[in-house]
Amino acid sequence: MLTEAMRKVTPQLVLLDAAAQPAGCTLPLFGLDAAALSARMAQAGEPAWRGRQLTEALYRQRLADLNEFTTLPKPLRQRLIAEGWQVGRPAVAQVFQSVDGTERYLIECGDAQTVETVWMPEGDDGDSGDEGDSANEAASSLAEGDSAHRRWKATLCVSSQIGCAVNCQFCLTAKLGLQRNLSAGEIAGQVVAVLARHAVEVGRDRVNLVFMGMGEPFLNYDSFMGAVRLLVTEVGLSPRRMTVSTSGIVPGIERFAAEPPEMRPRLALSLNAPNDSVREQLMPINRKWPIEAVLEAMRAVPMRPRERITFEYVLLAGVTDQPAHAREVARLARRSGLPVKVNLIAWNPGPGIDYTMPQPEAIESFRRTLIDEGIPAYLRKPRGRDIFAACGQLKRTVEG
Ligand code: SAH
Ligand code: SF4
Repeated sequence: MLTEAMRKVTPQLVLLDAAAQPAGCTLPLFGLDAAALSARMAQAGEPAWRGRQLTEALYRQRLADLNEFTTLPKPLRQRLIAEGWQVGRPAVAQVFQSVDGTERYLIECGDAQTVETVWMPEGDDGDSGDEGDSANEAASSLAEGDSAHRRWKATLCVSSQIGCAVNCQFCLTAKLGLQRNLSAGEIAGQVVAVLARHAVEVGRDRVNLVFMGMGEPFLNYDSFMGAVRLLVTEVGLSPRRMTVSTSGIVPGIERFAAEPPEMRPRLALSLNAPNDSVREQLMPINRKWPIEAVLEAMRAVPMRPRERITFEYVLLAGVTDQPAHAREVARLARRSGLPVKVNLIAWNPGPGIDYTMPQPEAIESFRRTLIDEGIPAYLRKPRGRDIFAACGQLKRTVEG
């Protein structure tokens, strides 16, 4: 069944390299890596090892104000501030709290633009780390930790652009169009700001990152991977606990395939349809890069042991949730030759989008069919629907 909205889809021109604009402050330090910070210190006439102190303060101690950088001598701090240096980390401007514990943040990026980030305690059942540690993870999610601090197990959903140019017909973010790309510091800054807010202990708490907020990460590739490098190298997070989701940008997937394994997050594809003809109605990008071209690019990504690629699949009543669709998805998954699991997402409604939520029986029967066909399939819990924080609902809605 095609809805009126789907018939109206026209081919979409996608900007491959809209330039990242810098945030508002004059000399932002956040976003620079250890080498760049050392170079900045050398330029300021200081020994390069002061760069290491800055790195510690920015990414490990997560300080947001240069006045608090007490490892630097006070006169140096004062001189840097007088010269216009600032931390320049994106700041949480507004918080919306859901009844289910989810928090949605509007994060300010310094030019009056805000971006959305979502914190989901207990995760969302869809994107835990590499398969190998999921059993341990289940056990430790119950752990209380010591009396001082209950351990976190949470998923953090991060944005890569303000708005999105890809124009998927079921997604509220698409309604914004592309406002601008985020810089590496603005992407990593969302993470560090939220880790600071919840006093997360890196290495002890289990926080998964999903690059599944606003925007298409592979249309802002350099900033996205720059953020990953900062988060791995300076913040200390593991790329095996990060998942990047793409609508199927082939040149981005090709670059991703060449990243070193120790720096590469896990990969998810927003498949969302059982075949090209349905997919191109829902996702105009499919006309540029059809399913087989995307799978071909994905086959070049060297998988780690036990790693799987995730197919995300949004269930739209009558459009993608039929039993025949499930069988087609299973065949497609097998034919792909990829180690695949499927994350089913019941479509989250939004104003002005003309689809219908799937019935619970249709969701369960879809999942059952995939499992009976030998394809691992999970249902992603909708989180924070009451505050417009669920998948595809990120549009900087200020009520909630
Ligand atoms: N742009 C990237 C990542 C962000 S979208 C991508 O599309 O992969 C994250 C996921 O939310 C995608 O799998 C997308 O298909 C899904 N999604 C978008 N709108 C949705 C909605 N209204 N309800 C449920 N899922 C949605
Ligand atoms: Fe962009 Fe992803 Fe939404 Fe499509 S689903 S419009 S790619 S954010």
